[in-house]
Amino acid sequence: MNFFKKFGIMNWEEIMQLETLPKVGPKTINILNKLNINTIEDLLTYYPYRYNVIKLININNADETLTTYVKAKIISVPKVAYIKKNFNRLDFIVQNNNIQFKVVIFNRAYLKKLLTVDREIIVVGKYQKLKNVFTASDIKFKIDEERIEPIYHLTEGLKNSFVESIMSSALDLKLTIPDYIPSYLNEKYHFITKDDAIKLIHKPKSIEDIKSSELKLIYEELFIYMFKINYLKSVNKVNNGIKKDFDMDIVQEFLASLTFELTADQIKTIEEILNDLKSDKKMNRLVIGDVGSGKTIVAIIATFANFLSGYSTAFMAPTEILAKQHYETIKEYFKYFDINICLLTGSLTKKKKISIYKEIENGKYDVVIGTHALLNENLKFNNLGLVITDEQHRFGVNQRNILQNKGMNKEADVLYLSATPIPRTYALTIYGDLDLSQIKTKPNIRKEIKTKVVYEQNIKEVLMAMYEELKLNHQIFVVSPLIMQNDELDLNSVIKLKEKLDIAFNKKVRIEILHGKLKQKEKDELMKEFQRGKIKILISTTVIEVGIDVPNATMMVIFNAERFGLATLHQLRGRVGRSNLQSYCYLVTNTKNNERLKVMEESSDGFYISEMDFKQRGQGDLFGIKQSGDMSFKIANLNRDYNILMQTNKDSNEFLTSNNYKENELYKDIIKQDKNLFKIFVIIYFTIPPCINPS
Ligand code: ADP
Ligand code: MG
Repeated sequence: MNFFKKFGIMNWEEIMQLETLPKVGPKTINILNKLNINTIEDLLTYYPYRYNVIKLININNADETLTTYVKAKIISVPKVAYIKKNFNRLDFIVQNNNIQFKVVIFNRAYLKKLLTVDREIIVVGKYQKLKNVFTASDIKFKIDEERIEPIYHLTEGLKNSFVESIMSSALDLKLTIPDYIPSYLNEKYHFITKDDAIKLIHKPKSIEDIKSSELKLIYEELFIYMFKINYLKSVNKVNNGIKKDFDMDIVQEFLASLTFELTADQIKTIEEILNDLKSDKKMNRLVIGDVGSGKTIVAIIATFANFLSGYSTAFMAPTEILAKQHYETIKEYFKYFDINICLLTGSLTKKKKISIYKEIENGKYDVVIGTHALLNENLKFNNLGLVITDEQHRFGVNQRNILQNKGMNKEADVLYLSATPIPRTYALTIYGDLDLSQIKTKPNIRKEIKTKVVYEQNIKEVLMAMYEELKLNHQIFVVSPLIMQNDELDLNSVIKLKEKLDIAFNKKVRIEILHGKLKQKEKDELMKEFQRGKIKILISTTVIEVGIDVPNATMMVIFNAERFGLATLHQLRGRVGRSNLQSYCYLVTNTKNNERLKVMEESSDGFYISEMDFKQRGQGDLFGIKQSGDMSFKIANLNRDYNILMQTNKDSNEFLTSNNYKENELYKDIIKQDKNLFKIFVIIYFTIPPCINPS
């Protein structure tokens, strides 16, 4: 990375040091590093995730979806309600432009004294016209100037205004950040310059500024991404793997010993994998199949063939529970063979881990199953021939550095398993460099989950159905989506939901809430209690563990279902129906005759559902509700920017085949990157959370 050659005297690393900015000392640097901001370039490309248009408006003109600023006179004395410890609510009536409306704000009880009748204040927040309620996120007594304020993702010890101020200093340095878009494309699309885009994204004067800078930066980011994918696709054609040799008869025997018949798609997928193993081209295969489609056995057969060829296998699962499940399953399948299997998870003691590392290094095990503990840099595999990652989206980007692990054989075949069905054209684009196997048919062992869309006013019907299931001693999942940006408000909505359910069921059953703000340990504890059947109804905001099996849970009730994409609803529904008990899914919505949701009643085929989602909305909901701090892209969003993605796929392919990239300094850097590492990068960055992402 030598983009900053033009500075001559200093090297770019010196120029890029955060210390050179005023007001930035070691303490701040520490905090910035937590956000992955290590250089000034990182800072300049740390984009706002939204904007506040600070402009006083009339309450008549308030857009329900935007945060607005309204100057208003207090009419009534504020009332305080203490809801829980550290959680209170203030409400009062104000007037703007002869219209009176109610203001609600959380956790500002301390403001009560200042909010005297007749005082003029500025309320900041969102107005719901129908309810005539203004939900405020802030109350101000004056504003300095009307402007557009960029809002950044923050972390403890960092204030938005501070980020704004150091961003200003960084912009003042007028450093040139390289533009990766080839100039002919910049001209073709009339994009603004990269310098302008960086400046305007942080300091827009108008909505147009935001739009033009976003477009430029999103296109660039997706262009680079698709260029890499297309480049990898072209180089992956060479022979860079291990040619494996195994006795097909033994594999056949193993298949014949299974207690069930494989589905047609399983057989096809297994054939594809076995061919990959035999070929001297490195396998890079993604198996996509719905929950319950039987991916595990496919992976086990791959492991078996790899073992027969004399190589070891690393099998990674996203959670300890899943790793353990796989360990038990695999042990059972291989019990008549002389195959050594070990389970390696994060919770082992250090001593135990070190001794297992040694054993692995010495080649004691043929199969090592584990969580991301397998990525530990001190772990050197012996004769590794196959890496399998199950539900790989769960591995966070933070793990990417560790993946440089030297112990991971670069020539090892790689098999990814994903439970998120996506339309084929889309899959072919974002996984363009991977070979795809789809398992569409499901084994005929499960009952259809009876699904019904219910208008909110008919909630009684749902409560009755819940009651029936509880009587049978079955358990229920309840999901309520993120409704507002403000976590406290979200929490309030689930707390209210719990209160309502407590009333409905007379407090006779144990109901608990699982939400993103709980500590991991508390979440695990709740999940365990639910698994054990102690908790009857589990309400969750955002977190439902992937792949967790609670066979006794027979009902999924999703509130505000209209806020979810169909793909997400399908994933959520997949949490039930995991036994031979009849299961149910209720989609509660406040929109009448919701045609989109009806698709869920008609079909249980994930591929069909995601295809419909795409058709209806022109985009999918494949990537969860929001991108968290573990964000894959800095600015692009594969859902929203689907059309740009498709365009960059086409454009980058043209650029690649024209061979012009070879003269481009920037692209030399791109293609020099360690291919193997990058491959894993891509997977971790761009695979799809099957449920709503906890942030
Ligand atoms: P997933 O694709 O979600 O990982 P699993 O591999 O865990 O699904 O399979 C779910 C269940 O279906 C397992 O109990 C497995 O043994 C069983 N199964 C897999 N394939 C078949 C099949 N062809 N016929 C019957 N049962 C099968
Ligand atoms: Mg699975």
